Amino acid sequence: MTPFTYARARDAGDAVRLTALADASYLGGGTNLVDLMRETVERPAALVDVSGLSNAIEARPDGSILIGAAARNTAVAEHRAVRERFPLLSRAIVAGASAQIRNMATVGGNILQRTRCTYFYDSEGARCNKRTPGQGCDAIGGFNRIHAVLGASNACIATHPSDMCVALAALGAVVHLQGPQGCRTLPFTGLHRLPEDHPERETELAPGELITAVELPALPFAARSAYRKVRDRSSYAFALVSVAAALDVQDGVVRELRLALGGVAHKPWRAWKAEAALKGRPATGEHFRAAAALELRDARPQSANGFKIGLAERSIVAVLESLAGKGERP
Ligand code: SF4
Repeated sequence: MTPFTYARARDAGDAVRLTALADASYLGGGTNLVDLMRETVERPAALVDVSGLSNAIEARPDGSILIGAAARNTAVAEHRAVRERFPLLSRAIVAGASAQIRNMATVGGNILQRTRCTYFYDSEGARCNKRTPGQGCDAIGGFNRIHAVLGASNACIATHPSDMCVALAALGAVVHLQGPQGCRTLPFTGLHRLPEDHPERETELAPGELITAVELPALPFAARSAYRKVRDRSSYAFALVSVAAALDVQDGVVRELRLALGGVAHKPWRAWKAEAALKGRPATGEHFRAAAALELRDARPQSANGFKIGLAERSIVAVLESLAGKGERP
């Protein structure tokens, strides 16, 4: 591991100032960053510890919730208002990692965790455009069972690993930021980038910007919502495909729908096409299947992950049928 300095921030302003001074990385729970440093994929000269900043979870009377970025994943998943208002978020978090990691990981760190593409971590032996721009990508034509089928590029086919982020994308969360230029907010779906020609640029964060909080706008029908994760083993595994959904059906017709996919793209994938196709349509398996096929129509498989396309379609249908009261519990 490359030597680094360490400082603990007193507040968000202090964190931004310290980071600008030392060209540092922010440290939350360290559950991904420390691995990356150990593998020399990341070599920050300095760490600014932001794990002591706001971890408050504020359930507001209007139905929204504001979550401090230093809140631990376990605290969010177990919070009563989260479980009642946004159960898909609670279920997504619990589906991720292990209990020990969830106890350490922060909301801000979870959002900014990096892909688990094995070539990305093999800094000695593999070519990777994300780690070393212009080097090439050994996942293309290599071991790519876990890689993307939507939104990938010729430069990178990695997926975003977070479960929590899939739920945040579905819920239309808003990210609160503080940086050298001041404070701003960003829609969660606009935070992460597709790889295009620059897979090393993963978010729209400006240099030195810090995630200070995540806001969940009120969404009453999300009280009926679900998260389904399909993976190679039943715990401590990343998603091959996951689905986060909230469904509002009245008189047999889809009035509102939120749908997002995980394990299929470089970012949490909001299923805008499927949502638009289903609004105002009968909540039937036939329409769910048509919407799922539409969302996956532009999917492009790699050499070893073509199964993900059908798996994603079937998972979408299963979750929506369950929420509509027609299938087994997700
Ligand atoms: Fe690197 Fe992306 Fe290729 Fe993986 S898929 S080796 S992260 S460029």
